[in-house]
Amino acid sequence: MLLTITTTHQPATDLGYLLHKHPERVQTFKLNFGQAHVFYPETSEQRCTIALLLDVDPVHLVRGRDKSFALEQYVNDRPYVASSFLSVALSEVFGTALNGHCNARPELVDTVLPLKAHLVVVPCRGEVETLRSLFEPLGYTVTLEPHVLDEQYPEWGMSPYYSITLEATCRLSDLLSHIYVLIPVLDNAKHYWIGDDEVEKLLKRGQGWLEEHPQRNLIARRYLRNRSSLVRSALARLLPEEAVAQEEELAEEKSNATEEAPERHGNPHEQRLLAVMEVLQQSNAHSVLDLGCGEGKLLKLLLASPAFERILGLDVSYRALEYANKRLRLERLPANQRKRITLLHGSLTYRDKRLEGYDAATVVEVIEHLDEPRLAAFERVLFEFAQPATVVITTPNAEYNVKFAALPAGQFRHEDHRFEWTRQQFQDWAERVAGRYGYVVRYQPMGPQDDEVGALSQMGIFSRQS
Ligand code: SAH
Repeated sequence: MLLTITTTHQPATDLGYLLHKHPERVQTFKLNFGQAHVFYPETSEQRCTIALLLDVDPVHLVRGRDKSFALEQYVNDRPYVASSFLSVALSEVFGTALNGHCNARPELVDTVLPLKAHLVVVPCRGEVETLRSLFEPLGYTVTLEPHVLDEQYPEWGMSPYYSITLEATCRLSDLLSHIYVLIPVLDNAKHYWIGDDEVEKLLKRGQGWLEEHPQRNLIARRYLRNRSSLVRSALARLLPEEAVAQEEELAEEKSNATEEAPERHGNPHEQRLLAVMEVLQQSNAHSVLDLGCGEGKLLKLLLASPAFERILGLDVSYRALEYANKRLRLERLPANQRKRITLLHGSLTYRDKRLEGYDAATVVEVIEHLDEPRLAAFERVLFEFAQPATVVITTPNAEYNVKFAALPAGQFRHEDHRFEWTRQQFQDWAERVAGRYGYVVRYQPMGPQDDEVGALSQMGIFSRQS
């Protein structure tokens, strides 16, 4: 298995600094499945190529695993193809570069360079289109070179192996991260046990590009070997709201109740946000807290409406806030717009004086993410201390879950949900809270509806009695 990376950046030998490998040295690294050799087939100011040659020991792979001998265990493609071994080697041999560090020349880390990666050989079982769909959205020009099964017997036809070339002008750490994640995705046989830390690796290496990759579901599924609980958890953490929206789209497809759904555009989550906006507009609020704002979809709608003069989005997830920041293009807003909005990293279960003095608060699909014993803390933070005149809370209607074809009975819609309430449970809770803190509450169903099990989601609108 051979990976070469070539640049024509000037001086091309900067590649050596970035990868922490001296161009004049051949180095060998011992890995637990074999060896990796690093050397430079060409170095000049104009053009520089580094090679990573993996020498996987097939016998070592089998030993100690299974006592019964099978030839197939020893004679397999593992030593020759680009697989998750390559990812392991990348992180051990080029770990510093993969993490985007370069002490000697820090400015190089964020420099985009003309780069060309060549991989020999990549297993790609009838999936040329998949291969392209993994790399092309990331900006690579992909060139594929198929290999025949055996040159002596051309009648045997083509093998499932390709050499691939990826060309782009990008940061080296990005190229390495893309290869790290996507090669094991192409090679469906991952060699090691998949555990929770694989989710961490995927999220770490996928940061900054996987969230918006059109094939992110396929990537997560394959990378995590179809372990559905891990896949759900990875997707949920990658994009919390998207996971909600996806589940709901699925529900909508399967549900015959959609025909009765109100004539509204967009997916159920967008409809829900519009319903919340309507309530806010009717409440005459000029300042709004969006608690558990996630990636800022509602914040964006609020910003677009000049009626809302002061907006604050709070979330416990820093990653979500970074997305919100991007979605709202905060840096590019003119000063008079910029000052309308604040993003706050914090938790809804701790009192925060900065939440006081707002007309309204929205808590959209958030309470079900709080541990039930912490709900009491949340109630005080919002209704006793922040005390906005209007509070809009939405949460899934658990009764509707029977309409989710893909959701086994008794399971929640989202990996991170701590509970999901029936309409009765939600109303019991809401009445108790409203009674205790001096509010009255009314309810509104949201999304597609069913005669028996009610709507997809439920909304409680609390008004403070002065
Ligand atoms: N309101 C958004 C996001 C819903 S997803 C929308 O409707 O689009 C739930 C959000 O609640 C996530 O962003 C999660 O990070 C946030 N969250 C969970 N627990 C929280 C807590 N204790 N404090 C603040 N936010 C929390």
